[in-house]
Amino acid sequence: MRLLASLASHLNPSRSLRTRLGLAIAGTAIILSVVASLIVGHTASEQVKVNVGQSLTELAYQMTDKLDRGMFERYRDLQIISTLNAIRSPDTPILEQRNLLEKLQSTYPDYAWIGFTDTRGVVRASTRKLLEGKNVKARPWFVAGKKAAYVGDVHEAVKLAKLLPNPTGEPLRFVDVAVPVRDLQGSFRGVLGAHLSWTWAKEVENSLLYPLQERNLQMFVFRQNGELLLSPSGLTTQLTARNLLASLSSYPQKTNGYAVETWSDANTYLTGFARSQGYRDYPGLGWIVLVRQKTETAFTPVQRLQKQIFSWNLIFGGLFAAIAYLAADRITKPILAIASSAETIRQGDTALKIPIVRGKDETARLSQSLHRLVSTLTQQEGALKNSNQQLQQKLSEIQQVEERYRQLAEALPQFIWTLDASGQVEYINQQWTAYTGLTLAQTVLHAWDVVHPDDFHYIRQVWLEAYANSISFESQYRYRGVDNTYRWYLVRGLPLKDEQGKVVKWLGTATDIDKQKQWEVERDRLLQQEKAARANAESANRVKDEFLTILSHELRTPLNPILGWVKLLQKGKLDEFKTAEALVTIERNAKLQLELIEDLLSVSQILQGKLNLKITSVDLQSIVLAAIETVRLAAEAKQIEIVKDFVVASKVTGDPAHLQQVFWNLISNAIKFTPENGRVEVQIVEVGDYAQIHISDTGKGINPDFIPYIFDYFRQEDSTITRKYGGLGLGLAIARNLVELHGGTISATSLGDGKGATFTVKLLVEGNSNNSRIRAFAHS
Ligand code: ADP
Repeated sequence: MRLLASLASHLNPSRSLRTRLGLAIAGTAIILSVVASLIVGHTASEQVKVNVGQSLTELAYQMTDKLDRGMFERYRDLQIISTLNAIRSPDTPILEQRNLLEKLQSTYPDYAWIGFTDTRGVVRASTRKLLEGKNVKARPWFVAGKKAAYVGDVHEAVKLAKLLPNPTGEPLRFVDVAVPVRDLQGSFRGVLGAHLSWTWAKEVENSLLYPLQERNLQMFVFRQNGELLLSPSGLTTQLTARNLLASLSSYPQKTNGYAVETWSDANTYLTGFARSQGYRDYPGLGWIVLVRQKTETAFTPVQRLQKQIFSWNLIFGGLFAAIAYLAADRITKPILAIASSAETIRQGDTALKIPIVRGKDETARLSQSLHRLVSTLTQQEGALKNSNQQLQQKLSEIQQVEERYRQLAEALPQFIWTLDASGQVEYINQQWTAYTGLTLAQTVLHAWDVVHPDDFHYIRQVWLEAYANSISFESQYRYRGVDNTYRWYLVRGLPLKDEQGKVVKWLGTATDIDKQKQWEVERDRLLQQEKAARANAESANRVKDEFLTILSHELRTPLNPILGWVKLLQKGKLDEFKTAEALVTIERNAKLQLELIEDLLSVSQILQGKLNLKITSVDLQSIVLAAIETVRLAAEAKQIEIVKDFVVASKVTGDPAHLQQVFWNLISNAIKFTPENGRVEVQIVEVGDYAQIHISDTGKGINPDFIPYIFDYFRQEDSTITRKYGGLGLGLAIARNLVELHGGTISATSLGDGKGATFTVKLLVEGNSNNSRIRAFAHS
């Protein structure tokens, strides 16, 4: 069983070159012999077909020839006899003539009847006296024979049918031959006619076919019009080769040949044909002779030949295959030896060499070059192993150094990282990951995400510049920790270069400087604060100095006219009119002084929180009117119109005296800062829970820059010593404090220089729950 399996694998073409080669050669041989046998077989069988066809044609031709010659001989017999005196001479006795005719019949037994008629067509003498004395003038042979030699086609016996013996019982058929008989003078003496039995044709046929019996040939004679005249004995049905006959009738010049023809019996026959063409002066009747042989029978030699060629080819193919297999074995043996050595070498037996095949052919050359190749490779392998070992050692040294650096990097408190030449992160130490929470893979993608957004653009620029120029950099910026807070780092980057100065790596470190940074920020803040405090103090000092200057000036201003007039009064030299004027001036300036002092008192009370409000229900309209009343004279002096627009009669809760002081302040400012012929409008409206009092003028207006300070103490827009309008810069500050003590608000707007100003006071309308706040203020 194992033997079988090994044989099978040995012969398996996919495994064995020998088998493949053998099969290829054998296959080619077999294909070649099959092709050759097909070609030879085809050619040979064509030739045999031609030969068989030609032999059939030959036979048909012989038949026509024999028939034609036979007819010619009968035709000539009669012509010769007709010239004999015994026939020509009218004096010859009938007996003699009859004897002559019977002698002729005896020379050729197929003469069924020979007779001699007189000129009228009455039979004078005939063989066996048959029809003698009978008139045959209507018979075609007589009619035609009167004029010239005549040969008539096959026809059924008419008168003689009953007279002649007929052993077969078949209808008697004749071929007629007739010649005119003339005497020496050339005058017509009668007609010599003969009926030739058609069995003659049968005999001719037999004589031809007899030697060829085993070929199973059959012969047929047809009239020109296709009527069957003769068919092989034993054939009961009327047969015809319609196509062939039709083609012969349309091509009269075709005299003989052969064709494969399907006959009316539905069988196919190789059919030879020939057309009777007469002989010498006998023109012939145009009979067509067909000789047929069944195609299977006819082509038997062809098939036999093909079979023979095929079997020889098989034998030779097998022989070739065997030889090819042996040859393949010889060719592949050295190759297989090389292959098996190569396999052993591959498995590690380097001592083994590829066998060298002697000679100069391809196998030898292959074995020699493989031998050399393997030797070279073995040497190279040794060298490679050596250098590999050295490399391995180098590598492990490098790895040790790297490991030491890595340990160092992990031990340092700083962040340490390396980038490759393209700037991609390669290594980060433990500290970086602990702080940012980014692994190496995350750092590669998101290192820039943990830079503080405010530092990002700047530091990115620094890095790109260092990278582009392969130079080191140092910078300070913030990194976001895993707890989402930022810390400051001092970051340094250093390009590491090879001998050619090409950057191979970047080394980076980041040191936490957050404490130091925080301290710096704190220090800056403190410095800033100190600076601001100093500036404030300086400004307060300046305001104070200015205020004192203004105060002394303002206090002195009313005193000067008082003291002047007092001196004049003391001298007692003033008349009555002047004395009255002096007293009015003294009173006015004393009042002014009182107002100033009251203002100062109010401020000091407010600043010390000692102002007491006497809360009651206040009618806004009446206190505003009272305030207007106190400034009326001043307004009139400047011809300023005061317009009152009191839309509502609001009541508020508060201290009427102080509220009146507020409005007086605002209205007197309006008159003070409005030039002559100006206009001051006082409006009271209610918006929501609040009463709003607007005091607007057409005066000098307020610089927008000053508006934020306008309610501060001692603030005046015009702070020069020789001030145009006077005052201490206290009125609005007091007004604001009083309004705020009432739970209200005060604001100022102006469209700018020369465009007037509007002051608005908002106070809660009485009855609102929020008024409790005013009480709270009042008691504080
Ligand atoms: P003063 O006693 O100096 O008037 P105020 O506190 O009443 O002090 O006013 C402060 C400053 O506000 C004024 O010096 C003036 O510059 C400006 N001011 C107040 N009211 C008006 C106004 N109606 N039109 C223009 N400026 C005004």
